[in-house]
Amino acid sequence: MNEATAGSVLVLNSGSSSIKFQLIHPESGESSATGLIERIGEPHGRIVYHHGGGVEERYVAIPDHRAGLTMAANIIAETGLDLRKAGIIAVGHRLVHGGDVFYKPTIIDDAVVQSISNLSSLAPLHNPANVIGIEVARAALPDIPHVGVFDTAFFHTLPAEAATYAIDRKVAKENGIRRYGFHGTSHQYVSARAAEFLGKDLNDLNQIVLHLGNGASASAIRGGRAIDTSMGLTPLEGLVMGTRCGDIDPGVVLHLHQSAGLSIEQIDDLLNRNSGVKGLAGVNDFRTLLTLVGEGDESAKLAYDVYIHRLRKYVGAYLVELGGVDVITFTAGVGENNPDVRRDSLAGLGRLGIVVDDERNSSTSTVARRISSDSSAVQVLVVPTDEELAIARAAAELVGGYATAQD
Ligand code: ADP
Repeated sequence: MNEATAGSVLVLNSGSSSIKFQLIHPESGESSATGLIERIGEPHGRIVYHHGGGVEERYVAIPDHRAGLTMAANIIAETGLDLRKAGIIAVGHRLVHGGDVFYKPTIIDDAVVQSISNLSSLAPLHNPANVIGIEVARAALPDIPHVGVFDTAFFHTLPAEAATYAIDRKVAKENGIRRYGFHGTSHQYVSARAAEFLGKDLNDLNQIVLHLGNGASASAIRGGRAIDTSMGLTPLEGLVMGTRCGDIDPGVVLHLHQSAGLSIEQIDDLLNRNSGVKGLAGVNDFRTLLTLVGEGDESAKLAYDVYIHRLRKYVGAYLVELGGVDVITFTAGVGENNPDVRRDSLAGLGRLGIVVDDERNSSTSTVARRISSDSSAVQVLVVPTDEELAIARAAAELVGGYATAQD
């Protein structure tokens, strides 16, 4: 048995064009190995593997997910870690779409794999990649329990009025059309951490969580239960994102098809991969966007303003839905690192009890912290998200290796 890895969970995130894995201890949160396999399907793929102080990096064509996972397994073995003898208690799979079927961490057996596969029409880019990750990992580690943790699960509790699109009910039912929400593992983890940070009972708090990464979503949480979120049937709805448009008049899609002659594939590409900040300013990385804004680039300024406008709109909506809020928390790449976005999205809300303190907001700390002023009735926090740790804990809990504070 390997002392450094005993009791760990192998967390696997087999995404649309990349695969991430991490060997993480659910209690300490310490990670003994992490890996990233990216640019799958492109001529120049890349594998990076960090383990016990060492780094292994390879540039090689990775034709598909199966090949990528096999290469990752080879690197792990070649650098001296035998996963079968590492004392791993579970493999936790990050799974994107659980539809109406999965809303709790679930032990994966053949029937579960089949059901996830059947949900592929709801997440065509993600669920097939998730399934391959499960198949390869189950074949490699057949004696360890595999647990699925679903991005949609936390939003299973959305009340009907928040989950329902106002379209023909029969059409919606036949096609599984409803608002599912995504980034759920992050929203759940961050809202629980926010309560812990404040020393308050999660059940007593009305919270807004703003997960602002390349993908971005907002949620309204009452007593630990999500009552609304900005993403919908797919992650395209809601906030302005790195490359996604977020909310848009569905008439735009019809117009682009009927009048502009774009195919469905072209519209998909436009709205998912070439819109949002990238569509408006030509760059999707927020750091680059801010540099351009600083240089007086007009498109970048417009992109920033549209981004902030949308964010404020959701904060306003959720304040009313919750009937007042105790905590607003920023998380993910932009939310954790960008003081401008935090300041501007909550500026001028003193009469609603929301006051961000400039000095606290400017701190470059990387741990959970409060950025509201002492006079602010609403606590404004920055809480780093850790989806891998949340998945490791959920998987370990299900197989009996970890107990949450709420138990
Ligand atoms: P995802 O997981 O959706 O790919 P992340 O949560 O990693 O996204 O966030 C990526 C975004 O965070 C990028 O737009 C990046 O520019 C932004 N970001 C990361 N670090 C900083 C920083 N120090 N300042 C501003 N933005 C940052």
